[in-house]
Amino acid sequence: MSEPPSPPVNDVMIRFDHVVKKFGDHVVLRELSFTVKPGEFVTLIGPSGSGKTTILRLLMTLERVNGGTIQVGEEYLTHMERKGKLVPADEKHLRKVRKRIGMVFQQFNLFPNMNVLRNLTEAPIRSLGLSRDEAEVRAKELLEMVGLSDKIDAHPMQLSGGQQQRVAIARALAMRPEVLLLDEVTSALDPELVAGVLGVLKEIASTTDITFLCVTHEMQFAQDVSDRVMMFDEGQVIEDAPPGKLFTNPDHERTRSFLHAVL
Ligand code: ADP
Repeated sequence: MSEPPSPPVNDVMIRFDHVVKKFGDHVVLRELSFTVKPGEFVTLIGPSGSGKTTILRLLMTLERVNGGTIQVGEEYLTHMERKGKLVPADEKHLRKVRKRIGMVFQQFNLFPNMNVLRNLTEAPIRSLGLSRDEAEVRAKELLEMVGLSDKIDAHPMQLSGGQQQRVAIARALAMRPEVLLLDEVTSALDPELVAGVLGVLKEIASTTDITFLCVTHEMQFAQDVSDRVMMFDEGQVIEDAPPGKLFTNPDHERTRSFLHAVL
């Protein structure tokens, strides 16, 4: 892997710079570059299998780049400073930067054997070093935010899919992330439960300064909540525009035909 050409740039929450990701011979990201500013809500749309989840998994350090750099806040995720030089990141550095990022998945992945309160307090106590009291105060605030204060003692299997997903969102927020990644968070839900989850996300996006990077097929939600929408295909961002522009008057034929197929 070559060294990054320059120090991290300012006023950035996420920056991919010429990122290459391959699985065997299959090149999924082709020198992908894009930037998300602090507090922005950016949605990635594009055909299935084009690499959108891979972008999120790279940020979660579940995958490693084959080339290029990823910056998170004022530091690189993929590189670290050693004796005044930028060198590939070691595990410790990856873990440190990774703590700034939360993710909500399609499958809610709650701890099935713990009640809602413990789902929200375990990681903050273990990883952030909060006392149980502090973690519980925070958990109660978050449950109120997602409208589930009355479910504090419930176990995940006693909740609907929509309620479980709202707990998963609260659990991600309990770790105080600066960035929240959303990967098709409503795809596993019955249609009547989707609006409640999207409503909670909209509220969080408008009342916090968290930066969002979202992969979704919910085009109406993307249109309502995003500051920018990036159309992604064949390993690159082919169009990047505010939703009002991208959904009504896209520049690229490929964006137009994709929207035509999904809307
Ligand atoms: P999207 O989120 O846009 O549907 P993905 O990021 O999930 O796309 O996948 C992009 C491509 O990378 C797909 O062709 C997928 O099969 C391939 N891929 C993803 N993860 C792996 C992996 N761990 N091993 C091999 N191929 C993978």
